[in-house]
Amino acid sequence: MNEAMERVNVVGGGLAGCEAAWQLARRGVPVDLYEMRPVTRTAAHTTGHLAELVCSNSFRSQSLTTGAGLLKEEMRRMGSLIVTLGEAHQVPAGSALAVDRVRFAEAVSERVSSLPGLRLIRRELDAVPPGPTIIATGPLTADSLSERLRELLGAEHLYYYDAISPVLTAESVDSSVAFRASRYDEKPGDYLNLPLTRDEYYRLVDAVVAAEKVPVRSFERFFEGCLPVEEMARRGRETLAFGPMRPTGLVDPASGQRPYAVVQLRQENREGTLYNLVGFQTKMTYPEQKRVFSLIPGLANAVFVRYGSLHRNTFINAPRHLLPTLQWRGAPRLFFAGQITGVEGYIESAASGLLAGVNAARLAAGTTPVTPPATTALGSLLRYISDTGREAFQPMNVNFGLFPSLPGKVKGRRKKEIMAGRSLRDLDRWWLETGEGAAAAREA
Ligand SMILES: Cc1cc2nc3c(=O)[nH]c(=O)nc-3n(C[C@H](O)[C@H](O)[C@H](O)COP(=O)(O)OP(=O)(O)OC[C@H]3O[C@@H](n4cnc5c(N)ncnc54)[C@H](O)[C@@H]3O)c2cc1C
Repeated sequence: MNEAMERVNVVGGGLAGCEAAWQLARRGVPVDLYEMRPVTRTAAHTTGHLAELVCSNSFRSQSLTTGAGLLKEEMRRMGSLIVTLGEAHQVPAGSALAVDRVRFAEAVSERVSSLPGLRLIRRELDAVPPGPTIIATGPLTADSLSERLRELLGAEHLYYYDAISPVLTAESVDSSVAFRASRYDEKPGDYLNLPLTRDEYYRLVDAVVAAEKVPVRSFERFFEGCLPVEEMARRGRETLAFGPMRPTGLVDPASGQRPYAVVQLRQENREGTLYNLVGFQTKMTYPEQKRVFSLIPGLANAVFVRYGSLHRNTFINAPRHLLPTLQWRGAPRLFFAGQITGVEGYIESAASGLLAGVNAARLAAGTTPVTPPATTALGSLLRYISDTGREAFQPMNVNFGLFPSLPGKVKGRRKKEIMAGRSLRDLDRWWLETGEGAAAAREA
C-alpha cells in the first residue's frame, strides 16, 4: 500500500462497492469504505454484512453462451473478488452459480475489512465527500444522499423507479405480421406495430389480468403515469385499447384497415437489434410474461433478452452523466458504480464496481482510465449506459443483444458462441494492453 497516495472514498459496501474497494486495495491504493448498515437500515437488507444479497441467491448462468455467464468469465479474468468468493461459497443450482448468501456475505465482509490500507466506516454519508470518490450506494440509496445527487445532477436526472418494458430481439419478431409505422406518419415510421383483432385483443387482456404476479413489496408504490400493464387491464377491458395499445393513426398495410388494437415495439439500441414493448411494464412473473406475450400476433417465437419489471430503484440518467469509464462527465474524480449507474443485477453491479475500482486506481497512479472493447460483455453494457444518443434511459441486464452484430447471417446458439469467443479474445488483448493483467497479479 502506498501511504503517500490520496485515499479514495467508496460509498456503499454492496456488491459494486466491495468489488471496487478490492480492486483499489490490491493496486496499493488506500480506501475509505463507507457503509451505513447496520446503523442505518434499508427497506430490503436485513443484516450488517457487506455485499448482502437482498433477494435471490443466484448469480445466474455459468454458460458462456449467456450474457451473465460470459460476464462472469470476463470478471474472473480481471481478478474479481465477488466471482471468486461466489464460487467459493456456491450451492448446487444446475448450470447456474448460486451462493450460500450468509457465508458469501460473511466472506466478503471479512476479506474486504481486512484489506491493507482500507478503513471501513459504518456511517451514512449525506453528501458526496471531497476527494476521489466512487458512489456505489445501490438501488436503495439513502434519502439524504439521493437529495444531494439530485442537486448535483439535476432533479430530472435521478430516478427512483424502474418501469421496464420487456425487451426482445428484432430478429425474433415475425416480420410477416409486424408493420413499420409511426402514428399519423406517411413515412415508413420508427415503430414496429403488431396488429390485433378484437378477439386477439380480449384474449390478451384476459390473460394479462389472470397471470401470476410478483407480490408488491411494502415499500413499493406505483405512479399513475406509469402503471403496470395488468393494473391498466384490471381497470377495464377497453383501457389498454384507449391507452398504450390504441390503434389511432395506424393502418395495417396487410388489410388496409385500422386494427382493433396494436402493440407497438420501440427501438432499444442504436444497432436496431433490440426492441421494447411500449407500455408493457409489468409485475407478471417471468414464465408468465413468456406465456402471455406469445399470444401477441408476431411474438409466438419472440426471444426476450429481459423481461418487464417495476420496482424501487435509484439510478441516474447515465447516458447524460457518465463516460464509459464510469467517471462523471462533470468531474473526472467522481465515479459511479453498481445499480445506481443503470446496470441491473448482482453480477452487472459487481462488474461495474470492478471497472470503477480499476479506473480510480489508474487515476490515483496518474494513468488514463480505460474501457473494455464494445465486443465484450462488460464493454457492451457500459456502451449501453453511456450512449448519449439514447432518449429514454432504462436499466439493463447484460445480454447478447447489446453486442455489435457479426458479419453474415449466423443465428441462435452458434451466433452466441462466436460472440463469446470474440469477447474473450478481445478482452485478453485489451487487458494486456492496459497493463492491468500484470498489476492485478500483485495481490494487495
Ligand atoms: C428488493 C430488491 C430485490 C432485488 N433482487 C435482485 C435479484 O434477485 N437478483 C439480482 O441480480 N438483483 C436484484 N436486485 C438488484 C440488486 O439490488 C442489485 O443487483 C445489487 O445488489 C446492486 O449492487 P449495488 O452494489 O449497486 O447495491 P447494493 O448491493 O444495494 O449496495 C449498496 C450499499 O450502499 C449502502 N448505502 C446506501 N446509501 C448509503 C449512504 N448514503 N451512505 C453509506 N452507505 C449507503 C447500502 O446499505 C448498501 O449496502 C434487487 C434489488 C432490490 C431493491
